[in-house]
Amino acid sequence: MDTNWRRINKELGREQPVEKADEEGWKDEDLGGAWVETPIKIDVPFHSQTPFPGHEEFLAGTLFHRPLVSVIREKIANPAVHPHLHYEPYELFWQPNPDSEAVRVHGELYTSPAFIDAHRKLQDSPPEPGCDLPRVVVAMMFGSDGTQLTTFGDAELGPVYLCFGNESKDRRSKPACHAVEHVAYFEKLPADFKKFAADHLGGKVPNSAIMAHCQREMYHEQWSTILDDEFIEAYRHGIVIDCCDGVRRRFYPRIFTYSADYPEKVVLASIRNLGFCPCPSCLISKDRLHRMGKPQDMQQRRTLARVDDAQRRAHVSSARKLIYQDEYAVNSEAVEKILKAESLVPTDNAFSKKLSPFGFNVFDMLLVDLMHEIELGVWKDLFIHLIRLLDAVDKTLKYELDRRYVVSLHANGPF
Ligand SMILES: [Zn+2]
Repeated sequence: MDTNWRRINKELGREQPVEKADEEGWKDEDLGGAWVETPIKIDVPFHSQTPFPGHEEFLAGTLFHRPLVSVIREKIANPAVHPHLHYEPYELFWQPNPDSEAVRVHGELYTSPAFIDAHRKLQDSPPEPGCDLPRVVVAMMFGSDGTQLTTFGDAELGPVYLCFGNESKDRRSKPACHAVEHVAYFEKLPADFKKFAADHLGGKVPNSAIMAHCQREMYHEQWSTILDDEFIEAYRHGIVIDCCDGVRRRFYPRIFTYSADYPEKVVLASIRNLGFCPCPSCLISKDRLHRMGKPQDMQQRRTLARVDDAQRRAHVSSARKLIYQDEYAVNSEAVEKILKAESLVPTDNAFSKKLSPFGFNVFDMLLVDLMHEIELGVWKDLFIHLIRLLDAVDKTLKYELDRRYVVSLHANGPF
């Protein structure tokens, strides 16, 4: 990616970057279209047992981001990308010979049931008044790596990426295709937050509960900024774009997937890190985790799937009322009573706040992270366990396993 790191570093290194933040923003073609800087403010609660109870706004940082609608427009109107975009989803089958049964092939988002479903829903919905343009789903696939922060001077930035599921994964995975868009650089709470909090706590350092709460507030405030009014308007009414084939179409952005590792998914889903119900997708409790993969577990993933319904939102808003109006501590018993059963946290979830009116379920977008959760985690642990079993049976068997790997590598070539 042709990111102008020197420029970003220079901007971040400015003495008072936030004071410029209300201006139009800065443009840099090297970074891919217009980048905007927006100040991020969070509301910090101080409970009734602290010296200065109440809540106070804290200027927590500046978000560097690209407005999503401009990223979509740029992508779709790009003549080099246009031939590779799929506007209509389809079912893909593999049938090696006429006598064999056709097998459904899964591999691309534009051949997935989720895309087909979103496409059908869009076609079945009433069109914009007086508009007969073809309506197309723009399949947005986000990813971020908040735990792999890049450091520029004092600021740590977590990149947020966007890909389009209308384009083949074969292109998305090739750096030369430039199919991955940078849309933002997330900040964490700055170092001076502790001093701000200590000033309100009679010199005491804020505890881990309030630090975690404010970190989550900061994260979702940044996502709220990205999911701006222009994007919500596009989500509702679509955006009209003249495509490179001469056809004018109306495009409706839809968020399909979000890739992140577990600690970040916990923040995205607004649940507790390894809480009583540790899964961001379902309400399986910790004491039932060992049944993973059994038929009952597979069934419960569906029956206990997390849903962003009115009840969840009511729990969060009652908890926030206790914290911000009635001056209860973030981890007080009164708050815990409302949230603990489903391992929720009192965070106003940006995706829920902005997109739940359209029936969007924030928990549905969170993907299994193949690298962190399977290859580095589950599979590694399983493999180590299998080797221990092998060792317990016969100490020489692990050498035999090694030998077979080497033989198969030689037979097949190194990858
Ligand atoms: Zn689950």
